[in-house]
Formats: sequence, structure tokens, C-alpha cells
Amino acid sequence: MLRDIVIYPDKRLKLISKEVTLFDEELHSLLDDMYDTMCSRKGIGLAAIQIGVDKRVLIINIPEEDDDDNVMPNKDETLEIINPKFEKKEGTCKHQEGCLSIPGVYEDIERFEHIVLNYQDREGKHQTIESNDFLAIAIQHELDHLDGKVFIEKLSILKRKKFEKEWKKKFK
Ligand SMILES: [Zn+2]
Repeated sequence: MLRDIVIYPDKRLKLISKEVTLFDEELHSLLDDMYDTMCSRKGIGLAAIQIGVDKRVLIINIPEEDDDDNVMPNKDETLEIINPKFEKKEGTCKHQEGCLSIPGVYEDIERFEHIVLNYQDREGKHQTIESNDFLAIAIQHELDHLDGKVFIEKLSILKRKKFEKEWKKKFK
């Protein structure tokens, strides 16, 4: 089922999401709805709070392009991350990021280059993932949402002011 995306500066984006304790039907339909909603907006990642649910749940799907450059998301390859905790974060890199809650805005953001993350899957099983490419950046972006942060908070003061001015114009 498609859900509405929470758009900046909605106050819900500032909430600290809560740990998941029940790995039940309700969690599974949340994950399925998040997948449908993310794909419908052609996103590559989504945190539960972006559809208004303050649970420590995020999904990521970085689709492969086929020979005709069509982006083909595959649900089986979706990473479902619940109650994530960094075990290691090191190095720095910069990459352009965007966000379904701040549509149309793309900025270069500095992140850790290499991460090791512990999390639980939809059945509650403990998992570990190690990544040092675009996936690592996507995970850090989505994990920030669970702590009530959005990527534009990482901009310099000057760039942030410019963004806020333009954003207000757009949503007046
Ligand atoms: Zn985002």
C-alpha cells in the first residue's frame, strides 16, 4: 500500500525513532508499504519516519541498471534494516545526496567512507553488513532520519540559508 511521504519541514522529521521490539505482521506490512512507497517515488532509500512511523526501520534498494539504462528495482534485493547500530565508521568521502522528504534538492554531503553496521532483519535475526561504497552513504543518510536529522543540516551555514530561502519560495 502506498503511503504519503512526510515533507520537510514537517516536525515529525525531527523525532527520535523508537527501537522495534515486535517482529510481527504489523512490522512486515510496514516494510512492504515502505517498499511500495519508495519505488513509486523512484527512491533508493526510505526511513519509516518518512511515512510518519517513528520506528527504527529503514530500507535501501540501489537498483542495477539493465542494458537499456532502465532502473529495475528488485524486492528480493531490498535491504531491510531494523534497530541499526554502527560497529565501525571510518574515512571520509563526499557524494551527492537527495531525499524523498526534500524533493528536487541535491547536495554534496560528507560522510564516513567505510562502515560496519549491526542490525536486525524482519524476523528479528541479528545481521552485520560491511560497506564502503554508495550503499554506506545511503545507510548513513537513512540512519540520520531515525535520529531526527535530515541531510541539509550537514550543509555550511551559507548553503543552508540559501536552501531555506529557496525552499520557502517553493512551498509558499
Ligand atoms: Zn532522506
